[in-house]
Amino acid sequence: MISNIPKWMIGLFGNKLSPNVKVVETTFLSPQVKKVSFQGDVSDWDFTIGYASVIRVSETEFRNYTVAHYDKENGVFDIIFHIHGNGAGSKFIEGLKVSDELFISPPRGKKLYETNKQQQFFFGDETSLGVACAWLPLLKKNQQQFQFYFELDEINKSVPERLALENYTVFPKNNSFRNEKWISTLPLFQTQEWNTANIALVGNVKSVQVFRKVLKDKKQGSIYSQGYWLEGKKGL
Ligand SMILES: Cc1cc2nc3c(=O)[nH]c(=O)nc-3n(C[C@H](O)[C@H](O)[C@H](O)COP(=O)(O)OP(=O)(O)OC[C@H]3O[C@@H](n4cnc5c(N)ncnc54)[C@H](O)[C@@H]3O)c2cc1C
Repeated sequence: MISNIPKWMIGLFGNKLSPNVKVVETTFLSPQVKKVSFQGDVSDWDFTIGYASVIRVSETEFRNYTVAHYDKENGVFDIIFHIHGNGAGSKFIEGLKVSDELFISPPRGKKLYETNKQQQFFFGDETSLGVACAWLPLLKKNQQQFQFYFELDEINKSVPERLALENYTVFPKNNSFRNEKWISTLPLFQTQEWNTANIALVGNVKSVQVFRKVLKDKKQGSIYSQGYWLEGKKGL
């Protein structure tokens, strides 16, 4: 879905974009990362890893976010938001409180996960903590070997621990993932074992592009990638 729909066109959707979920809990995991629990009818939603929902963040604007946990029976699900302070989405989510009602679409989009690979590698940032949380139980259930890499601002570096993520390494967000030479020295490239891994790269578009190029040059892994945000660009 596009991130901005003209007002005249919104009318054509009738009440399809009206509030369908309610906020039941909010928690700040750091000053910039907010977990929000929602309640609604999610009985026929498809929570495939990598799929995202669009949230209506103003009369005409929509942004993509990933469901981190869900409980179909009780109709509740959580989303983990990066409150970066720059956009309509971030500002809307920052203000969300218990009992607020809003529109969230069923998840759809791009798969990130090839189930038959024993080694699973994931790279992301604050925007990707939700998909990592959604993925972890599946990796454990399938007894796969996995490794998460996160580039995070200093203020958010303890969030993976608060989310009970496992096998993760936190890197400072200092443009290291824009440096091909530095990326090629990462432990991922030091053992043969990871040569045929499933590799999921999400988060900042530029970091994803550079990381992907290094992997391609080394002909390493089956790569699934999707940029979640780009400096200076509204909605992706
Ligand atoms: C498939 C998919 C799944 C996603 N899942 C999540 C999720 O679970 N949680 C989550 O927080 N985000 C997620 N995102 C990213 C989120 O949609 C973007 O960050 C979006 O741009 C936020 O909208 P906004 O209105 O806050 O900022 P926009 O209006 O889109 O952008 C305004 C300015 O803010 C900057 N900006 C946008 N995002 C960030 C950021 N994270 N850090 C710093 N600057 C930023 C832009 O570059 C731009 O300059 C996902 C994106 C995709 C495509």
